[in-house]
Amino acid sequence: DSFRSLQLSKAQLDALDSLGYESMTAIQAQSLPEILKGNDLIAQAKTGSGKTAAFGIGLLQKLNPRFFGAQALVLCPTRELAEQVGKEIRKLARFMPNIKLVMLCGGKPIGPQIGSLEHGAHIVVGTPGRVQDHLRKNTLKLDGLTTLVLDEADRMLDMGFADAMQAIIGQTPKNRQTLLFSATYPDTIQHMSRQIQRNPVTVTV
Ligand code: AMP
Repeated sequence: DSFRSLQLSKAQLDALDSLGYESMTAIQAQSLPEILKGNDLIAQAKTGSGKTAAFGIGLLQKLNPRFFGAQALVLCPTRELAEQVGKEIRKLARFMPNIKLVMLCGGKPIGPQIGSLEHGAHIVVGTPGRVQDHLRKNTLKLDGLTTLVLDEADRMLDMGFADAMQAIIGQTPKNRQTLLFSATYPDTIQHMSRQIQRNPVTVTV
């Protein structure tokens, strides 16, 4: 399955070429057509499956570079995962000039994060606690959000982030696209999906 079967921008195809990604992984082949159509998605996929590129390509294809507000938010359970995700999205965006990604993770000083947000950010990647801190301080606004990604959603619930996630999601537009990735598929995830997603397509790899 080639990425060329999808309607991707030249900048996106060039980035995939430069990364040496020739064919899609299983999760990419199953989820990307749905993600690019704008559908909500619930995907059971582990780290190593290529899930980051699946949602990364999806959110990058939708960005409006001229609007310097948060259009995509990726929530991750840990700083380590958020850093990996941020790195991968930056690589996927390497031929898209002027796209800004800001990392908002706990355990880091908040001042520089506020400074970065003031300069405008198209993409925010972070952990729920710190993202919620920024919403409380009004240093982050999510009213222009078009894509919300919950990465390793089961782990975020296990780590006690349910309330923070709900508070964050409550500040996003109802017409957003919501992509939920989880290694496991317990009742709590299904319940959350019903609350926050609209007719999600289910993908299992
Ligand atoms: P992830 O599951 O998102 O953590 O990705 C696992 C690894 O697969 C990362 O190191 C990616 O760079 C790599 N990767 C993602 N998509 C592809 C692809 N289509 N072809 C080759 N490698 C890929």
